[in-house]
Amino acid sequence: MASIFSKIVSGEIPSYKLAEDEHFFAFLDINPIAKGHALVIPKKETDYIFDIEDSELASMILFAKKLAKAIEQVVACNRIGIAVVGLEVPHAHIHLIPINTIYDIDFSKPKLKFEAHEFKALSDAIAAKV
Ligand code: AMP
Repeated sequence: MASIFSKIVSGEIPSYKLAEDEHFFAFLDINPIAKGHALVIPKKETDYIFDIEDSELASMILFAKKLAKAIEQVVACNRIGIAVVGLEVPHAHIHLIPINTIYDIDFSKPKLKFEAHEFKALSDAIAAKV
């Protein structure tokens, strides 16, 4: 069965899309821990990131780099933090999180809430910079 993230890639489940190429897709995390919290996924479904083939994993990092540079231009922050957890969704993904302090990348804190129009405006602004 396709993962929830594969359904996002196919458009079966909506997302606030940020960027896409032949192999990767990026969208806003729906339960963000910081404004601009984004996810980068491979279109090819693999659960564990370190099971991804070397050249694809290297390309995924470069895709994430390009996206991080775009997020930086839209969300004021010290830098973009990067994290891989993968305990909730079994489809490899990189979290990109605008941070100013270590607390900004604390996954145990309450998630931020945004209205749909705020997510949309943010994703459009980031997508325009990619
Ligand atoms: P983890 O697998 O522990 O890295 O966490 C999965 C992440 O995916 C969490 O930060 C969720 O908020 C996020 N997430 C789950 N479902 C969706 C969705 N439909 N759209 C956007 N983000 C999602």
